[in-house]
Amino acid sequence: MEKRTEFTRDSLEVCRNCKAEGSVYRRTEDGSSHIREICPVCCGSGLVRKHIEGFVSIEPHRKPRKP
Ligand SMILES: [Zn+2]
Repeated sequence: MEKRTEFTRDSLEVCRNCKAEGSVYRRTEDGSSHIREICPVCCGSGLVRKHIEGFVSIEPHRKPRKP
C-alpha cells in the first residue's frame, strides 16, 4: 500500500543574492562601471521567505527474485 504525506513549510532565510546586504552591484549597460541597486530578490530587506510545498510517497519495495 502506498502512503502519501503532503507537507508545507515556511522559513525565513538570509538572502543569498545580496548576502543580506539588501543591495547588489550591477554592471551598467556599456560595462564601464558598476552601480549599486536594491536587491531584486529581497527588495532590500536582506531576508527572503522560503515556501516549500511537496509530498512524500512511501511504497513497498519488492526484492527482485533470484533466478
Ligand atoms: Zn537580497
